Amino acid sequence: MQAALPKPVANADSHTYWNAARERRLVIRKCNACGQLHFMPRYLCPSCWSDNLDWIDASGTGRVHSFSVIRRASDPAFASRVPYVLALIELDEGPRMMANILGEDALGVAVGDPVTVTFEDRGDGALIPQFERVATRGA
Ligand SMILES: [Zn+2]
Repeated sequence: MQAALPKPVANADSHTYWNAARERRLVIRKCNACGQLHFMPRYLCPSCWSDNLDWIDASGTGRVHSFSVIRRASDPAFASRVPYVLALIELDEGPRMMANILGEDALGVAVGDPVTVTFEDRGDGALIPQFERVATRGA
């Protein structure tokens, strides 16, 4: 019942992020003062506090830095989804972001697995950046 899952709530810091997701683009922030890339979207650079930031398109690829298998939903909207994987993804660009691992092989995830972004439809055009494991060549 994916239609019952919550939609993103954009704020001034994340509006561009969620609009890009609607176009199936994963964007992160780049600081023009110190060069740091970061996630989550915010108004000030967490490294140098500059507000001179740009948005850049991320490759959408990375690796699983850590994960947890959720077996009891903390929100009733996710009850039909358990068990599911909540993971900390380290993007190839460096920043880390929380997301679900989707796909039939999601529960077989391991730390270090390569992943690629996918966009989960939450209705009304809202898309959530999530990740899928990259199939091992020849598997
Ligand atoms: Zn900075």
